[in-house]
Amino acid sequence: MTDRQAVAVLGSTGSIGVSTLDVIKRNQHRYQVSAITANKNVEQIEAQCVEFQPRYAAMADPLAAEALKRRVSARNLNTTVLLGEGSLNQIAEDPEIPIVMAAIVGFAGLDSTLVAARSGKRILLANKESMVVAGHLLNQAAKDGNATIVPVDSEHNAIFQCLPKENQLGATVSEAREIERLVLTASGGPFRQLSADEMQHVTVEQAVNHPNWDMGPKISVDSATMMNKGLEIIEACFLFGVNEQQIEVLVHPQSIVHSMVRYCDGSVLAQMGESDMRTPIANALAWPQRIDAGVSPLDFKLLAGLEFEAPDMLNFPCLDLARQALRVGKGANVVLNAANEIAVERFIDGQVRFVDIAAVNAYTLTHCESSEPHSVADLKALDMAARSYAEEIITNGQLSVGLA
Ligand code: NDP
Ligand code: MG
Repeated sequence: MTDRQAVAVLGSTGSIGVSTLDVIKRNQHRYQVSAITANKNVEQIEAQCVEFQPRYAAMADPLAAEALKRRVSARNLNTTVLLGEGSLNQIAEDPEIPIVMAAIVGFAGLDSTLVAARSGKRILLANKESMVVAGHLLNQAAKDGNATIVPVDSEHNAIFQCLPKENQLGATVSEAREIERLVLTASGGPFRQLSADEMQHVTVEQAVNHPNWDMGPKISVDSATMMNKGLEIIEACFLFGVNEQQIEVLVHPQSIVHSMVRYCDGSVLAQMGESDMRTPIANALAWPQRIDAGVSPLDFKLLAGLEFEAPDMLNFPCLDLARQALRVGKGANVVLNAANEIAVERFIDGQVRFVDIAAVNAYTLTHCESSEPHSVADLKALDMAARSYAEEIITNGQLSVGLA
């Protein structure tokens, strides 16, 4: 049991975190959970401490961390609860933990992902927002630190699996002349078939109820607006080193084909499987080997007809906003991500309507000043400015202008 690889699961109480712990549990002869982190969910992380007995646990929220420390000590567990602002980074850089699952949601995951990259870890990257806002910096940090970034996002993991070995890591696809395009599939989310009128009245409950995937609330809303696919276009550009014209988006409501690579001889390689994140998690964990993920085998008889269609750009304007941000450059991706995090939060809190999310994103992207961030400090300043801008237009009720 001594040569088991140590894994840190950042965001262990989330949907990806829980699936990761499940995959590790099935492969205990190879991996051990050495550290787990969350934000505020003390109850759940305490239960995970009991079950997995990690060496470390940490929480971003200081009060929650104190509460966890008391509970862990009352239970006499062998887990050290780290306190203080740098505790998540401390885990991400621990030299005795070679594998880091980056599964914190949103911009909040950036610091620890960067630290893991500088510290030469194998990063299982679920936290797409860190690649969206800091693609160049993160790739450079991984290069400098000799880290390996394996995508967990199902589409990117599918593309990763369909790429030639020499292009899987290090954003080198543009150097591969035989690769024509990357094809990202999208389920289309719960509102794929609604009219523009019907979209005006959708509720939070409907938006977080994804037809195929069981995910956290933020990414579920992103899937419903298709901002998720927009963020994934940006993520793919940085992960694989392509420009936005080399990325095609196809709506595929069954979520069986997770994404594809088109080659110059007309071949298209696709990765298929059940809609279960344990497949890409297991792939990222064990690559280039394969391990059991607990996922049911794909039953072709049940897949009577796989459908593929072009996305509806009118009802889902967020898709094009991502391409726009990539064309503009100069930090526009940071602005778009910040606006979207604010808009989604406000939608979940009931302060804006579903359709306002695209309006906030569009208006902030077009009007908030941005400039190319050259450092993490630049990037954080830009993120803060864009958040304030988005908050302001929501408060001032400028939303109807947004889509004009
Ligand atoms: P969840 O909302 O389910 O979980 C988020 C995790 O991050 C929780 O552990 C949460 O802790 C923690 N967290 C939240 N805010 C902070 C913070 N400020 N600082 C530190 N930790 C924090 O999200 P998902 O698991 O759905 O998604 C995680 C990431 O993976 C996202 O970037 C998402 O886009 C990506 N992803 C998710 C997929 C999915 O199927 N769910 C698919 C592909 C990508 P707490 O529980 O205490 O709040
Ligand atoms: Mg995805």
